[in-house]
Order: sequence, then C-alpha cells, then structure tokens
Amino acid sequence: MRPIIGITGRKDTSARLLNSPMYSVGQTYVNALHNAGGTPLILPPLFDEQDWPGVIARLDGLLLSGGEDIHPQNYRQEELTWMGGVDLERDHSELGLVRSALDRGLPILAICRGHQLLNIALGGTLFQDLAAQIPNALDHAYVPGRPMEQTVHTVTLDPDSHIANLLGGDTFAVNSVHHQGVDVPGQGLTVVGYAPDGVVEALELAGYPFCYSVQWHPEAMLKVNDTMLPLFAAFVNAAGQQATHAESG
Ligand code: MN
Repeated sequence: MRPIIGITGRKDTSARLLNSPMYSVGQTYVNALHNAGGTPLILPPLFDEQDWPGVIARLDGLLLSGGEDIHPQNYRQEELTWMGGVDLERDHSELGLVRSALDRGLPILAICRGHQLLNIALGGTLFQDLAAQIPNALDHAYVPGRPMEQTVHTVTLDPDSHIANLLGGDTFAVNSVHHQGVDVPGQGLTVVGYAPDGVVEALELAGYPFCYSVQWHPEAMLKVNDTMLPLFAAFVNAAGQQATHAESG
C-alpha cells in the first residue's frame, strides 16, 4: 500500500468557476509525491482542534506547501512593514496540523511558506520582509512572468546535514519566490542551508525521524531536472515506514 501524504491547501480566490471559490494545491506538489510513490491527499485550510488529531492519525506524512505570508501575530509581533496576502484561518489550521504531526512523529516536509510555518510552530520568528529588514539582501521575491522553476541564487548546505546527504552535494542553484524568511530558529531546529546573503534556506529538526524544510521550491524544479527528486523519494520512503509501523502497531 502506498503511504498517504497530506498536502496543505489554500483558498483559491480567483473564483473562476461560476463565482464559486475553490480550495486548491499546486499540481507540482501533488505530482512530485505521486511520482515518488506516495498517495497525495489535499487538505483544506480550515481545520481546528476538532480536526487536527483525527486527520493526522490517518496520514503517514505531512507536506506543508507554499502560499500566503504568515501573519506576524502568530509569532507575537506587530505588523512592522509591507505584508502580502495573509489567511489567518489557514495559519491556524496549519499550525495545529504541524503540531499534531510533531506529537505523533509523522514525517514532515515543509516548503517555502511551510518552511516558515514549521519554524513558527516550534516558537521561532520570521523576517516580515527581507528587503526591508536585511541590508544588502538578494532579491528572493517572486518576479511576475518568471517561471517558478527558474533558479535565481545558490544555497550552501552543511555537508553533514541530512538534506545534503540526500541530494548528494552541498551547493545548489535554487529558485526563490519568497519575501519573508526565517529569523530566530524554532526550538530544536538546526539551520543547515543559507543563501549567499545569509538568509536561512533549510532547516532540520534534530533527533526527529524526518522533518526537513526548504525555503526554495523543489517540486517546481522537477520540471527541469531530477536534482531535487531524492527529497521527495526519501520523504515518501519515510512515510512508508510510518505506515508499516501503524499497521503492525
Ligand atoms: Mn531564496
């Protein structure tokens, strides 16, 4: 049986279909997991304490996807500078999901907004706007018209990190579609990758079976080549072991 992996979804406000709003997830996330041997399940951004434990108990892995900015009230800050779109309901839904997943030891892969969300779930903080708060920061933000998969800066990984091990190297060109970033790392999180300007691009949770996060979009890079494929293969494999334990336990 293939491991079942939840992917956090968003509110699609484009309302293309007869003025009827949708919940959605980018196909690249879904395809990356499906092609790597997992069964992806799309999770709507509206869960609360009545949903979290039951959902997490039925999953073998959790992928935190990209999306809106995370509201600074989630890490006890005022709004200091420019903020993009936010969704407080999604913030609440995902913070509860990831904390339930951590309680259960579920394999977690967190991407972009997910990377930032994981950090906040463990008590860390963000830069609300890299360009405003970091002198000489590279341009990490989305540029209209630029393909998602296009690489724009390098990331240097700790050569002893799990992520470097999985990817088989410690320096990679990556895409970049974010204007917020990790400031203070959350409890237990180790920074294992930086952009050339010092922005935190990868985190690992020490002593946890599989909990890795990246600020770039490996699922979009699969369109060009398989460099990032081992990340998804290892995640699905970890989720498969979780499923086996659940069956025998
Ligand atoms: Mn970046």
